Amino acid sequence: MAKTLELRPLGNTGLKLSSVGFGASPLGNVFGPVSDDDAVGSVRRAFLLGINFFDTSPFYGGTLSEKVLGKALKALGVPRNEYIVSTKCGRYVDGFDFSAERVTRSIDESLERLQLDYVDILQCHDIEFGSLDQIVNETIPALQKLKEAGKIRFIGITGLPLGVFTYVLGRVPPGTVDVILSYCHYGINDSTLEDLLPYLKSKGVGVISASPLAMGLLTESGPPEWHPASPELKAACQAAAAFCKEKGKNISKLAMQYSLSNKDISSILVGMNSIRQLSWDFVHCKSLEFFLENYFHTLLRRICGALWGVDPIVFWKLIALVLVEENVAAAKELGIFGKDEKSLSEIEEILKPVKNQTWPSGIPQS
Ligand code: NAD
Repeated sequence: MAKTLELRPLGNTGLKLSSVGFGASPLGNVFGPVSDDDAVGSVRRAFLLGINFFDTSPFYGGTLSEKVLGKALKALGVPRNEYIVSTKCGRYVDGFDFSAERVTRSIDESLERLQLDYVDILQCHDIEFGSLDQIVNETIPALQKLKEAGKIRFIGITGLPLGVFTYVLGRVPPGTVDVILSYCHYGINDSTLEDLLPYLKSKGVGVISASPLAMGLLTESGPPEWHPASPELKAACQAAAAFCKEKGKNISKLAMQYSLSNKDISSILVGMNSIRQLSWDFVHCKSLEFFLENYFHTLLRRICGALWGVDPIVFWKLIALVLVEENVAAAKELGIFGKDEKSLSEIEEILKPVKNQTWPSGIPQS
Protein backbone atom coordinates (compact mmCIF):
# COMPACT_ATOMS: atom_id res chain seq x y z
CA MET A 1 0.00 0.00 0.00
CA ALA A 2 1.34 3.45 -0.95
CA LYS A 3 2.47 5.47 2.08
CA THR A 4 0.89 8.79 1.31
CA LEU A 5 -2.03 10.17 -0.65
CA GLU A 6 -1.43 11.42 -4.15
CA LEU A 7 -0.91 15.20 -4.42
CA ARG A 8 -2.41 16.89 -7.49
CA PRO A 9 -1.73 20.38 -8.88
CA LEU A 10 -4.57 22.89 -8.60
CA GLY A 11 -4.81 24.76 -11.90
CA ASN A 12 -2.21 27.54 -12.16
CA THR A 13 -2.01 28.15 -8.42
CA GLY A 14 1.13 26.13 -7.72
CA LEU A 15 -0.72 24.46 -4.84
CA LYS A 16 -0.71 20.68 -4.62
CA LEU A 17 -3.80 19.24 -2.96
CA SER A 18 -4.25 15.75 -1.56
CA SER A 19 -6.58 13.81 -3.85
CA VAL A 20 -8.93 13.34 -0.88
CA GLY A 21 -9.86 16.60 0.86
CA PHE A 22 -11.39 17.03 4.32
CA GLY A 23 -14.85 18.63 4.19
CA ALA A 24 -15.21 20.30 7.57
CA SER A 25 -18.94 21.00 7.58
CA PRO A 26 -19.59 18.19 10.13
CA LEU A 27 -17.24 20.00 12.55
CA GLY A 28 -19.93 22.67 12.72
CA ASN A 29 -22.22 20.25 14.59
CA VAL A 30 -24.53 20.28 11.59
CA PHE A 31 -25.37 16.62 12.18
CA GLY A 32 -25.21 16.67 15.97
CA PRO A 33 -22.83 17.62 18.77
CA VAL A 34 -19.16 16.92 18.17
CA SER A 35 -16.73 17.45 21.00
CA ASP A 36 -13.63 19.55 20.36
CA ASP A 37 -11.44 16.56 21.26
CA ASP A 38 -13.11 14.41 18.61
CA ALA A 39 -12.82 17.12 15.98
CA VAL A 40 -9.14 17.63 16.79
CA GLY A 41 -8.63 13.84 16.63
CA SER A 42 -10.28 13.52 13.18
CA VAL A 43 -8.25 16.37 11.71
CA ARG A 44 -5.02 14.99 13.17
CA ARG A 45 -5.74 11.50 11.83
CA ALA A 46 -6.64 12.89 8.40
CA PHE A 47 -3.37 14.89 8.30
CA LEU A 48 -1.31 11.89 9.37
CA LEU A 49 -2.94 9.83 6.60
CA GLY A 50 -1.84 12.38 4.00
CA ILE A 51 -4.80 14.76 3.72
CA ASN A 52 -3.42 18.30 3.40
CA PHE A 53 -6.56 20.11 2.22
CA PHE A 54 -9.28 21.31 4.61
CA ASP A 55 -12.43 23.11 3.46
CA THR A 56 -14.80 25.11 5.65
CA SER A 57 -17.18 28.08 5.55
CA PRO A 58 -18.66 30.62 7.99
CA PHE A 59 -22.00 29.11 7.00
CA TYR A 60 -21.21 25.64 8.41
CA GLY A 61 -22.67 25.44 11.88
CA GLY A 62 -23.04 29.23 12.02
CA THR A 63 -19.22 29.78 12.16
CA LEU A 64 -18.56 26.83 14.49
CA SER A 65 -16.86 24.73 11.79
CA GLU A 66 -14.25 27.46 11.25
CA LYS A 67 -13.62 27.81 14.99
CA VAL A 68 -13.21 24.08 15.55
CA LEU A 69 -11.09 23.58 12.43
CA GLY A 70 -8.84 26.45 13.54
CA LYS A 71 -8.35 24.83 16.91
CA ALA A 72 -7.67 21.43 15.33
CA LEU A 73 -5.13 22.82 12.85
CA LYS A 74 -3.32 24.71 15.59
CA ALA A 75 -3.19 21.51 17.63
CA LEU A 76 -1.38 19.79 14.74
CA GLY A 77 1.64 21.92 15.60
CA VAL A 78 3.08 21.73 12.08
CA PRO A 79 4.37 24.60 9.88
CA ARG A 80 1.58 26.59 8.22
CA ASN A 81 2.73 25.70 4.70
CA GLU A 82 2.10 21.99 5.32
CA TYR A 83 -1.67 22.35 5.04
CA ILE A 84 -4.03 24.16 2.70
CA VAL A 85 -7.15 25.86 4.01
CA SER A 86 -10.09 27.09 2.04
CA THR A 87 -13.00 29.00 3.47
CA LYS A 88 -15.84 30.91 1.89
CA CYS A 89 -17.71 34.19 1.96
CA GLY A 90 -21.13 35.53 0.99
CA ARG A 91 -23.25 32.78 2.58
CA TYR A 92 -24.13 33.01 6.26
CA VAL A 93 -26.75 31.48 8.55
CA ASP A 94 -28.77 34.67 8.24
CA GLY A 95 -28.65 34.71 4.43
CA PHE A 96 -26.54 35.69 1.43
CA ASP A 97 -24.53 38.89 1.10
CA PHE A 98 -21.93 39.16 -1.65
CA SER A 99 -21.35 42.91 -1.24
CA ALA A 100 -17.74 44.12 -1.19
CA GLU A 101 -18.23 45.48 2.31
CA ARG A 102 -19.53 42.17 3.71
CA VAL A 103 -16.95 39.87 2.09
CA THR A 104 -14.13 42.20 3.16
CA ARG A 105 -15.33 42.06 6.77
CA SER A 106 -15.97 38.33 6.41
CA ILE A 107 -12.33 37.36 5.81
CA ASP A 108 -11.16 39.16 8.96
CA GLU A 109 -13.79 37.32 10.99
CA SER A 110 -12.84 33.99 9.36
CA LEU A 111 -9.11 34.49 9.99
CA GLU A 112 -9.79 35.22 13.64
CA ARG A 113 -11.92 32.08 14.04
CA LEU A 114 -9.41 29.96 12.14
CA GLN A 115 -6.49 31.48 14.10
CA LEU A 116 -4.65 32.03 10.81
CA ASP A 117 -2.88 34.98 9.17
CA TYR A 118 -4.14 34.01 5.71
CA VAL A 119 -6.24 31.39 3.96
CA ASP A 120 -5.02 29.68 0.82
CA ILE A 121 -8.36 29.93 -0.99
CA LEU A 122 -11.35 32.20 -0.37
CA GLN A 123 -14.42 31.17 -2.33
CA CYS A 124 -17.69 32.98 -3.00
CA HIS A 125 -20.13 30.47 -1.51
CA ASP A 126 -23.00 29.21 -3.71
CA ILE A 127 -23.07 32.12 -6.12
CA GLU A 128 -26.32 31.07 -7.81
CA PHE A 129 -28.08 32.57 -4.77
CA GLY A 130 -26.67 36.02 -5.52
CA SER A 131 -26.56 38.24 -8.57
CA LEU A 132 -23.89 36.80 -10.86
CA ASP A 133 -23.22 40.29 -12.20
CA GLN A 134 -22.52 41.47 -8.67
CA ILE A 135 -20.10 38.55 -8.25
CA VAL A 136 -18.28 39.63 -11.45
CA ASN A 137 -18.32 43.40 -10.89
CA GLU A 138 -18.16 43.80 -7.11
CA THR A 139 -17.33 40.61 -5.15
CA ILE A 140 -14.37 39.34 -7.14
CA PRO A 141 -12.72 42.78 -7.36
CA ALA A 142 -13.07 42.99 -3.55
CA LEU A 143 -11.43 39.57 -3.22
CA GLN A 144 -8.57 40.75 -5.45
CA LYS A 145 -7.88 43.51 -2.94
CA LEU A 146 -7.77 40.87 -0.19
CA LYS A 147 -5.28 38.95 -2.29
CA GLU A 148 -3.11 42.05 -2.63
CA ALA A 149 -3.34 42.56 1.13
CA GLY A 150 -2.02 39.02 1.68
CA LYS A 151 -5.13 37.80 3.52
CA ILE A 152 -5.93 35.21 0.86
CA ARG A 153 -3.72 33.53 -1.72
CA PHE A 154 -6.30 32.48 -4.30
CA ILE A 155 -9.89 33.24 -5.32
CA GLY A 156 -12.62 30.67 -5.93
CA ILE A 157 -16.32 30.36 -6.66
CA THR A 158 -18.68 27.57 -5.64
CA GLY A 159 -22.17 26.52 -6.71
CA LEU A 160 -24.41 23.70 -7.89
CA PRO A 161 -25.53 24.69 -11.43
CA LEU A 162 -22.52 24.34 -13.71
CA GLY A 163 -23.64 27.29 -15.85
CA VAL A 164 -22.67 29.76 -13.11
CA PHE A 165 -19.00 28.92 -13.58
CA THR A 166 -18.94 29.63 -17.31
CA TYR A 167 -20.99 32.80 -16.78
CA VAL A 168 -18.49 34.25 -14.30
CA LEU A 169 -15.31 32.92 -15.93
CA GLY A 170 -16.43 34.30 -19.27
CA ARG A 171 -16.73 37.81 -17.81
CA VAL A 172 -13.76 38.29 -15.47
CA PRO A 173 -10.21 39.07 -16.68
CA PRO A 174 -8.16 35.88 -17.25
CA GLY A 175 -6.41 34.65 -14.11
CA THR A 176 -8.78 36.44 -11.75
CA VAL A 177 -10.68 33.37 -10.58
CA ASP A 178 -8.17 30.65 -9.68
CA VAL A 179 -10.44 27.82 -8.56
CA ILE A 180 -13.97 26.47 -8.88
CA LEU A 181 -15.63 24.15 -6.36
CA SER A 182 -18.42 22.08 -7.86
CA TYR A 183 -20.48 19.55 -5.90
CA CYS A 184 -22.67 16.55 -6.72
CA HIS A 185 -21.60 16.67 -10.38
CA TYR A 186 -18.77 14.19 -10.50
CA GLY A 187 -20.03 10.92 -9.12
CA ILE A 188 -21.48 7.63 -10.33
CA ASN A 189 -25.00 9.08 -10.65
CA ASP A 190 -24.03 12.47 -12.13
CA SER A 191 -20.82 13.14 -14.06
CA THR A 192 -21.79 16.32 -15.91
CA LEU A 193 -18.75 18.21 -14.57
CA GLU A 194 -16.69 16.16 -17.03
CA ASP A 195 -17.93 18.24 -19.99
CA LEU A 196 -16.65 21.42 -18.35
CA LEU A 197 -13.15 20.14 -17.55
CA PRO A 198 -11.49 20.97 -20.92
CA TYR A 199 -12.78 24.58 -20.70
CA LEU A 200 -11.51 24.96 -17.12
CA LYS A 201 -8.17 23.43 -18.05
CA SER A 202 -7.81 25.84 -20.99
CA LYS A 203 -8.26 28.73 -18.55
CA GLY A 204 -5.84 27.30 -15.97
CA VAL A 205 -8.64 27.18 -13.40
CA GLY A 206 -8.20 24.55 -10.67
CA VAL A 207 -11.07 22.13 -10.03
CA ILE A 208 -12.29 20.84 -6.69
CA SER A 209 -15.20 18.44 -6.68
CA ALA A 210 -17.22 17.98 -3.49
CA SER A 211 -19.81 15.47 -2.32
CA PRO A 212 -18.60 12.29 -4.09
CA LEU A 213 -21.26 10.39 -2.13
CA ALA A 214 -23.88 12.83 -3.47
CA MET A 215 -24.48 14.13 0.07
CA GLY A 216 -25.38 10.67 1.35
CA LEU A 217 -27.24 9.27 -1.69
CA LEU A 218 -24.39 6.86 -2.36
CA THR A 219 -24.19 5.38 1.12
CA GLU A 220 -25.77 2.27 2.61
CA SER A 221 -27.55 4.36 5.21
CA GLY A 222 -29.08 6.68 2.62
CA PRO A 223 -29.38 10.47 2.47
CA PRO A 224 -30.59 12.79 5.23
CA GLU A 225 -34.25 13.86 5.33
CA TRP A 226 -33.52 17.29 3.83
CA HIS A 227 -31.78 15.89 0.74
CA PRO A 228 -33.18 17.73 -2.33
CA ALA A 229 -33.03 14.77 -4.77
CA SER A 230 -36.27 13.49 -6.31
CA PRO A 231 -37.85 10.35 -4.81
CA GLU A 232 -36.94 8.57 -8.06
CA LEU A 233 -33.24 9.43 -7.72
CA LYS A 234 -33.22 8.50 -4.03
CA ALA A 235 -34.86 5.15 -4.78
CA ALA A 236 -32.41 4.34 -7.60
CA CYS A 237 -29.41 5.13 -5.39
CA GLN A 238 -30.80 3.00 -2.59
CA ALA A 239 -31.35 0.14 -5.05
CA ALA A 240 -27.72 0.50 -6.17
CA ALA A 241 -26.54 0.51 -2.54
CA ALA A 242 -28.59 -2.61 -1.76
CA PHE A 243 -27.20 -4.33 -4.87
CA CYS A 244 -23.63 -3.58 -3.73
CA LYS A 245 -24.31 -4.77 -0.21
CA GLU A 246 -25.68 -8.06 -1.50
CA LYS A 247 -22.52 -8.54 -3.54
CA GLY A 248 -20.34 -7.76 -0.54
CA LYS A 249 -19.27 -4.39 -2.00
CA ASN A 250 -19.38 -0.97 -0.40
CA ILE A 251 -21.12 1.62 -2.57
CA SER A 252 -19.36 4.52 -0.82
CA LYS A 253 -15.94 3.09 -1.58
CA LEU A 254 -16.86 2.52 -5.23
CA ALA A 255 -18.26 6.05 -5.43
CA MET A 256 -15.08 7.54 -3.93
CA GLN A 257 -12.95 5.63 -6.41
CA TYR A 258 -15.12 6.71 -9.34
CA SER A 259 -14.68 10.38 -8.40
CA LEU A 260 -10.98 10.04 -7.61
CA SER A 261 -10.14 8.41 -10.92
CA ASN A 262 -10.24 11.65 -12.95
CA LYS A 263 -6.90 13.37 -12.42
CA ASP A 264 -8.10 16.64 -13.93
CA ILE A 265 -9.95 17.10 -10.64
CA SER A 266 -7.44 18.14 -8.01
CA SER A 267 -9.23 17.10 -4.86
CA ILE A 268 -12.38 15.22 -3.93
CA LEU A 269 -13.93 16.78 -0.84
CA VAL A 270 -15.80 14.33 1.33
CA GLY A 271 -17.61 14.99 4.59
CA MET A 272 -16.19 12.45 6.98
CA ASN A 273 -18.38 12.10 9.97
CA SER A 274 -21.82 12.67 11.32
CA ILE A 275 -23.92 11.63 14.23
CA ARG A 276 -26.46 10.54 11.65
CA GLN A 277 -23.98 8.15 10.12
CA LEU A 278 -23.29 6.71 13.53
CA SER A 279 -26.94 6.22 14.26
CA TRP A 280 -27.43 4.26 11.05
CA ASP A 281 -24.33 2.21 11.60
CA PHE A 282 -25.65 1.15 14.97
CA VAL A 283 -29.28 0.64 14.31
CA HIS A 284 -29.72 -0.07 10.57
CA CYS A 285 -33.43 0.59 10.78
CA LYS A 286 -35.07 3.43 8.83
CA SER A 287 -38.31 3.33 10.78
CA LEU A 288 -36.41 4.50 13.85
CA GLU A 289 -35.23 7.64 12.09
CA PHE A 290 -37.53 10.09 13.81
CA PHE A 291 -36.96 8.55 17.17
CA LEU A 292 -33.20 8.58 16.73
CA GLU A 293 -33.12 12.17 15.62
CA ASN A 294 -35.12 13.28 18.61
CA TYR A 295 -33.95 10.96 21.35
CA PHE A 296 -30.59 9.92 19.94
CA HIS A 297 -28.40 10.62 22.94
CA THR A 298 -30.58 9.02 25.54
CA LEU A 299 -31.15 5.96 23.41
CA LEU A 300 -27.58 5.47 22.34
CA ARG A 301 -26.24 6.06 25.83
CA ARG A 302 -28.57 3.38 27.13
CA ILE A 303 -27.78 0.87 24.37
CA CYS A 304 -24.06 1.37 24.67
CA GLY A 305 -24.19 1.32 28.43
CA ALA A 306 -26.27 -1.85 28.49
CA LEU A 307 -24.47 -3.78 25.78
CA TRP A 308 -20.89 -2.74 26.06
CA GLY A 309 -20.55 -0.55 29.11
CA VAL A 310 -18.93 2.12 26.90
CA ASP A 311 -19.85 5.77 26.54
CA PRO A 312 -21.39 6.48 23.08
CA ILE A 313 -19.06 9.39 22.49
CA VAL A 314 -16.25 6.84 22.22
CA PHE A 315 -18.20 5.09 19.46
CA TRP A 316 -18.82 8.37 17.66
CA LYS A 317 -15.10 9.01 17.68
CA LEU A 318 -14.39 5.55 16.32
CA ILE A 319 -16.87 5.95 13.46
CA ALA A 320 -15.47 9.36 12.55
CA LEU A 321 -11.98 7.93 12.38
CA VAL A 322 -13.20 4.87 10.49
CA LEU A 323 -14.66 7.12 7.75
CA VAL A 324 -11.40 9.05 7.46
CA GLU A 325 -9.49 5.77 7.22
CA GLU A 326 -11.96 4.27 4.73
CA ASN A 327 -11.89 7.20 2.34
CA VAL A 328 -8.12 7.45 2.37
CA ALA A 329 -7.82 3.67 1.92
CA ALA A 330 -10.20 3.88 -1.08
CA ALA A 331 -7.83 6.37 -2.70
CA LYS A 332 -4.71 4.34 -1.98
CA GLU A 333 -6.28 1.10 -3.24
CA LEU A 334 -7.36 2.87 -6.41
CA GLY A 335 -3.72 3.82 -7.02
CA ILE A 336 -2.66 0.20 -6.71
CA PHE A 337 -5.52 -1.88 -8.15
CA GLY A 338 -7.40 0.61 -10.35
CA LYS A 339 -11.19 0.92 -10.53
CA ASP A 340 -13.53 -2.05 -9.97
CA GLU A 341 -14.87 -1.67 -13.51
CA LYS A 342 -17.26 -4.61 -13.31
CA SER A 343 -19.05 -3.40 -10.18
CA LEU A 344 -19.11 0.17 -11.44
CA SER A 345 -20.72 -0.79 -14.74
CA GLU A 346 -23.35 -2.83 -12.87
CA ILE A 347 -24.15 0.15 -10.66
CA GLU A 348 -24.21 2.50 -13.64
CA GLU A 349 -26.76 0.21 -15.26
CA ILE A 350 -29.03 0.47 -12.18
CA LEU A 351 -28.63 4.25 -12.15
CA LYS A 352 -29.09 4.69 -15.90
CA PRO A 353 -32.74 5.94 -15.70
CA VAL A 354 -31.68 8.77 -13.36
CA LYS A 355 -28.21 9.47 -14.81
CA ASN A 356 -27.27 13.16 -14.50
CA GLN A 357 -30.54 14.03 -12.79
CA THR A 358 -30.04 17.03 -10.50
CA TRP A 359 -32.23 19.48 -8.58
CA PRO A 360 -32.89 23.24 -8.76
CA SER A 361 -30.66 25.60 -6.79
CA GLY A 362 -30.48 29.39 -6.67
CA ILE A 363 -32.50 32.40 -7.73
CA PRO A 364 -33.56 33.47 -11.25
CA GLN A 365 -30.86 35.65 -12.84
CA SER A 366 -32.02 38.72 -14.75
P1 NAD B 1 -20.57 13.81 0.82
O1 NAD B 1 -20.96 13.31 -0.51
O2 NAD B 1 -19.13 13.85 1.17
O3 NAD B 1 -21.38 12.93 1.87
C1 NAD B 1 -21.16 13.03 3.24
C2 NAD B 1 -21.96 11.92 3.96
O4 NAD B 1 -21.38 10.67 3.64
C3 NAD B 1 -21.90 12.07 5.47
O5 NAD B 1 -23.15 11.67 6.00
C4 NAD B 1 -20.79 11.10 5.88
O6 NAD B 1 -20.96 10.63 7.18
C5 NAD B 1 -20.97 10.02 4.84
N1 NAD B 1 -19.71 9.29 4.56
C6 NAD B 1 -18.49 9.81 4.35
N2 NAD B 1 -17.60 8.84 4.09
C7 NAD B 1 -18.29 7.67 4.11
C8 NAD B 1 -17.94 6.32 3.92
N3 NAD B 1 -16.69 5.96 3.64
N4 NAD B 1 -18.92 5.38 4.02
C9 NAD B 1 -20.19 5.74 4.28
N5 NAD B 1 -20.59 7.01 4.48
C10 NAD B 1 -19.66 7.96 4.41
O7 NAD B 1 -21.19 15.28 0.95
P2 NAD B 1 -20.93 16.55 1.82
O8 NAD B 1 -20.59 16.23 3.25
O9 NAD B 1 -22.08 17.41 1.55
O10 NAD B 1 -19.66 17.28 1.12
C11 NAD B 1 -18.34 17.18 1.57
C12 NAD B 1 -17.69 18.53 1.78
O11 NAD B 1 -17.62 19.24 0.54
C13 NAD B 1 -18.40 19.49 2.77
O12 NAD B 1 -18.04 19.25 4.11
C14 NAD B 1 -17.90 20.83 2.28
O13 NAD B 1 -16.59 21.08 2.79
C15 NAD B 1 -17.80 20.62 0.77
N6 NAD B 1 -19.02 21.08 0.05
C16 NAD B 1 -19.05 22.37 -0.38
C17 NAD B 1 -20.18 22.85 -1.05
C18 NAD B 1 -20.20 24.29 -1.51
O14 NAD B 1 -19.24 24.99 -1.35
N7 NAD B 1 -21.29 24.76 -2.09
C19 NAD B 1 -21.27 22.02 -1.28
C20 NAD B 1 -21.21 20.71 -0.86
C21 NAD B 1 -20.06 20.24 -0.19
